[in-house]
Amino acid sequence: MHNDIEKVLITEEEIRNKCKELGKQLAEEYDGKFPLAVGVLKGAMPFMSDILRYTDCHVEMDFMDVSSYGNETRSSGEVKIVKDLNTKVEGRDLLIIEDIIDSGLTLSYLVDLFKYRKAKSIKIVTLLDKPEGRTANITADMVGFHVPNEFVVGYGLDYAEKYRNLPYIGVLKPKIYGGEE
Ligand code: 5GP
Ligand code: MG
Ligand code: MG
Repeated sequence: MHNDIEKVLITEEEIRNKCKELGKQLAEEYDGKFPLAVGVLKGAMPFMSDILRYTDCHVEMDFMDVSSYGNETRSSGEVKIVKDLNTKVEGRDLLIIEDIIDSGLTLSYLVDLFKYRKAKSIKIVTLLDKPEGRTANITADMVGFHVPNEFVVGYGLDYAEKYRNLPYIGVLKPKIYGGEE
């Protein structure tokens, strides 16, 4: 375990099993279709790669990078598009792939944007859901794990751009946030 991590909430093995399960569900859901999977950068990158390798149907992949004007641990709801899709959304079955839903403000913005762009259908799959943080009216169609209202890192999720490469989901030691040793 990395020295900055206080405890592991979800192990590498639990993540792998969940990705297989979700990937197979997606294959059934989109059987005979050609969905456009939209990965929300950068956090969803490992999750997207792991679920789609178990999704045995045709899938197109594209990426969106959005940043929310907030501090590092809370989103403000004001969303800026840093990188837009290269693909036309009109008439497509969209699958938005997210790392975590907290307030739901980021996803609420994306769903509105894709409706405006005339997507045929929009579904959301998220690795993690923090229902206690919700302020926007957003529900994921598929959720990997529910997590408590704590700031988590690993497997795509960062604190100040670190820890995305950890293979598990964990909680940081308080001193990493500048708290007491
Ligand atoms: P929301 O708009 O739902 O409040 O939050 C969306 C984004 O905030 C997530 O995609 C993620 O980048 C960040 N975020 C929310 N909660 C956490 C957390 O516990 N850990 C990390 N690392 N990022 C989080
Ligand atoms: Mg995200
Ligand atoms: Mg972040």
